[in-house]
Amino acid sequence: MSTAAPEAPARTLPFEFFDTRVVRTRRLGPTMLRITFGGGSLRHLTTGGRDQRVKLFLPHPGQDAPLVPTDAGDEWFTAWRAMDPAVRGIMRTYTVREQRRVPQEELDVDFVLHGIGDPSEAAHADSADSADSAPAGPAGPASTWAANARPGDRVTLLGPTVADNGGVDFRPPPGTDWVLISGDETALPAVAGILEWLPPGTQAKVWLEVPHAEDIQELPTVADADITWLVRENSAAHRTELHLASIAAARLPAGTPYAWIAGEAGTVKTLRRHLVRERGFDRMRVKFTGYWRLDATEEQLVEEAVSGAADTADA
Ligand SMILES: Cc1cc2nc3c(=O)[nH]c(=O)nc-3n(C[C@H](O)[C@H](O)[C@H](O)COP(=O)(O)OP(=O)(O)OC[C@H]3O[C@@H](n4cnc5c(N)ncnc54)[C@H](O)[C@@H]3O)c2cc1C
Repeated sequence: MSTAAPEAPARTLPFEFFDTRVVRTRRLGPTMLRITFGGGSLRHLTTGGRDQRVKLFLPHPGQDAPLVPTDAGDEWFTAWRAMDPAVRGIMRTYTVREQRRVPQEELDVDFVLHGIGDPSEAAHADSADSADSAPAGPAGPASTWAANARPGDRVTLLGPTVADNGGVDFRPPPGTDWVLISGDETALPAVAGILEWLPPGTQAKVWLEVPHAEDIQELPTVADADITWLVRENSAAHRTELHLASIAAARLPAGTPYAWIAGEAGTVKTLRRHLVRERGFDRMRVKFTGYWRLDATEEQLVEEAVSGAADTADA
């Protein structure tokens, strides 16, 4: 495939804070809500496409805008952690679904509304679907914020200023013949971005797991993509088993693969183990990322990562 051209691994983080406002919201199905952000400063934001991640800082209920140490430079994370969690902006990780420059600077982020009781009430603006099944799982601050977002609501975004930045993980190394892509609904925006980016004719085997049939989206691509949609409501199997069974039963193409897996952390771990141990994938050619974990908030995952890094430094 032509993505085999060497790509320097970008590990720099040329990220800046952007003050943005909600422009509009649009329901994509029972599970997802697209929020379009705007603001003049977004002209300095430059995404790398694919699975470009950004940090969103959301206000607490009652706050007009999130409190974020935007003037702390490279020390922003230390400064943010030192703030009172009850008042500092709620930090969450999301994917840039699309960035537009014209007719004005806009950015789309697709939110999973997990745990939001009545999707039809949560949907504002041009509601697209009449879904009557609420997305499963407990609600979190971000899904709750998204469900209630209104035009004009303020959010601070930490995002890249150059396209080749450390917030893009999908990087097939030289010598890749085909790609395997697997994700759940939280990874659907990233998979959509990856499929849009893949060069013409790239052979891609794709698995996407969503709660409901109405969550299935058109995913434009010029790649030679074979997409399998796994709908959880149609299955008695646990999410991991459903996903694993489908991949395990698949005939995979010949040649050297590159795999990208994202979604619930336990499922991701199981799928990665299957590819490496049972399918013989080179572990260096499997990029896997837990986008969320059952029974853990993002704060808990961040604190685990910080203490893990400290343990490594102590060792
Ligand atoms: C690189 C990256 C990119 C991401 N991109 C997106 C994206 O584009 N769109 C998107 O919707 N999410 C995305 N996520 C996942 C998102 O950050 C998490 O789902 C996050 O936990 C949501 O925050 P919250 O405040 O709603 O819930 P939290 O407060 O973090 O969690 C509250 C509870 O909800 C559970 N929970 C969290 N997420 C889900 C879920 N999806 N389904 C069911 N239960 C859940 C947790 O286990 C916890 O018990 C991404 C994550 C990463 C790491």
